[in-house]
Amino acid sequence: MDVRSTIAGSLPKPAWLAEPETLWAKWRLDGPALADAKRDATRIALFEQERAGITCVTDGEQSRQHFVHGFLTHVEGVDFSKMVRRGIRADRYQADVPTVTGPVRRVGPAHLDEATFARRHTKRRLKMTIPGPMTIVDTVSDAHYKDRRELAMAFAALIREEIAGLESVGVYVVQLDEPALNAYLDEAEAWGMEAIDAAVRDASCRTAVHVCYGYGIKANVDWKRSLGQSWDQYERLLPLLAKTNIDEISIELAGSHVPAAVLGSAGRKDVAIGVIDVATDRVEAPEDVVATINTARAYLPDERIIASTNCGMAPMRRDVAYAKLQALGAGVALANS
Ligand code: ZN
Repeated sequence: MDVRSTIAGSLPKPAWLAEPETLWAKWRLDGPALADAKRDATRIALFEQERAGITCVTDGEQSRQHFVHGFLTHVEGVDFSKMVRRGIRADRYQADVPTVTGPVRRVGPAHLDEATFARRHTKRRLKMTIPGPMTIVDTVSDAHYKDRRELAMAFAALIREEIAGLESVGVYVVQLDEPALNAYLDEAEAWGMEAIDAAVRDASCRTAVHVCYGYGIKANVDWKRSLGQSWDQYERLLPLLAKTNIDEISIELAGSHVPAAVLGSAGRKDVAIGVIDVATDRVEAPEDVVATINTARAYLPDERIIASTNCGMAPMRRDVAYAKLQALGAGVALANS
């Protein structure tokens, strides 16, 4: 079987939809015009991925303001009128986050409409991304549970309900985005995996966990510089993820200091390797993509390799992101030739 391809999840939004090159960007429209514009942006995101030959496409996360808060706006017990500035990802950066003021409960599906729309507009395999339990816990201010594990398990139950909806409309793989795992290795081991397993329990679609070193923004680039010549986070996390019930692990590889040998500790999981660096505007050549795939081939058979982007491309320049998509598709085609 050939090496497959996907993207981590997000693509930049068009400037007519939201302020470009910004995280948590404000919408340019509202009401029905906004809903319509989100769908048009989704059409473009799907079209560009298909044009690049990506095997498993996403909606480009065009309908959500932020990958965590898009989910939380559909959760009772999370109060967006009580925003608190706090350090997240082990204080790597400050963010304004909503407050958990009571027991969390879904008031309805978060991303079902988007998944249904995307499903109707592509014949390719469809991936939907939702934040993982630890990352949600790390992107709120908790005034109710007062215990990170307990809060994570509460959110895991809501994620499980969300996955049930997504699989019912034909989503091929649901990916939990868990960048927080890399920031809290002890907690990842103590309860992070338990929460992931609770979130994906008995899912009938495929499930994935994406663990990365973050968007290509300054705080993350500075953090990566502090990690030294060999990043050892995956050495701890991959053997733990290998024991969970997920099908696929998505990690960063291109342009990183991730030792390739960690790929050998992914157990029987498929591994989505980042072959596109999202922290630079330099567009990879297809041969660069092949070189990264070949690095992975020393540890994994082709049928377990999925070539992907290191992380979401939401804050990137749009022309750069699309050029990188083309490089990804062309590189995978070359690797399979
Ligand atoms: Zn990421």
